[in-house]
Amino acid sequence: RKAAFAALRDLPPETKDGSRITLMVNAGLRDDVAALDLTGADGIGLFRTEFQFLVSATLPQRERQQRLYREVMEAAGERPVVFRTVDIGGDKALPYLTVEAHGEENPAMGWRALRLALERDGLMKAQARALLEAAAGRTLNVMFPMVSEAWEFTEARALFEAQREWLAARGKRLPVEIRYGAMLEVPALAEQLDLLLPTCDFLSIGTNDLTQFLFAADRANPKLAERYDWLSVSILRFIARVAGVARAAGVPVGVCGEMGGRPLEAMALIAIGIDRLSITPAAVGPVKAMIRSIDRGEAAEFVADLLARPPRDLRGALTEWATARGI
Ligand code: PEP
Ligand code: MG
Repeated sequence: RKAAFAALRDLPPETKDGSRITLMVNAGLRDDVAALDLTGADGIGLFRTEFQFLVSATLPQRERQQRLYREVMEAAGERPVVFRTVDIGGDKALPYLTVEAHGEENPAMGWRALRLALERDGLMKAQARALLEAAAGRTLNVMFPMVSEAWEFTEARALFEAQREWLAARGKRLPVEIRYGAMLEVPALAEQLDLLLPTCDFLSIGTNDLTQFLFAADRANPKLAERYDWLSVSILRFIARVAGVARAAGVPVGVCGEMGGRPLEAMALIAIGIDRLSITPAAVGPVKAMIRSIDRGEAAEFVADLLARPPRDLRGALTEWATARGI
């Protein structure tokens, strides 16, 4: 099977009825970029910038951040890289930064990600400058984690724009274009899409955190890992609705959580209107094989019916349907 996946490397992730899915990889370290050539992926859909912070004993200086971002973009070449601003706190605690957050009873729901970055704006400004300067002459794709309300996205974007103007005033070379995205991983944001979408260039659904918050089930607790299935009515209906609203507004929407790296889950996502997936590199082969073996129209119809009248065992029904079609 490994050889079969390797043979798929240069074939497009396209369904039998001609729907081209954008298949990207998640990354966080300089060396992860090699996965692009190995897998033939379309780009990096989630670059977790906090990795550099997590592996450092002290706060990485702006120059070091900039060097990493430039190296990653250079190695990616023509393929896009979506940089996510730091998601620190929660399960990614930093001893030298988040002392104020220590002792939080619920760190995943605590002072983390954009909440922390907007308040500690020195950190965010340094990262904005590092990204803007690293992307000089290119397109910069940047997205913000844990956006809970539209105003947080507006503030984060304004912070980047202010840094861009600051650099422009000093005659620095700038990105030719900046595309700003929001991660949708806090359910509350789904009720503010009308406020968010007009100001946002793309949406990326983070199903790891989204599942944890939608089900109120700690993503790090093994006792709950099997209990709430990604192939559940609530998650699929939720994502289908968000994808529909974003599509109507003309805003591209993808999924960047681990859910998209499982073939059956990815099939369900594609069936409900997701056409961009960013997944772990090892999953590209299996997911691409699935994509090339499905008829999207047929899958869409089947999953829509399932979600309208859900059986008790949604996973079982999907598995049976896929197996019968040799998927
Ligand atoms: C997610 O929450 O789904 C996500 C992609 O981000 P992370 O796993 O880094 O929290
Ligand atoms: Mg997340």
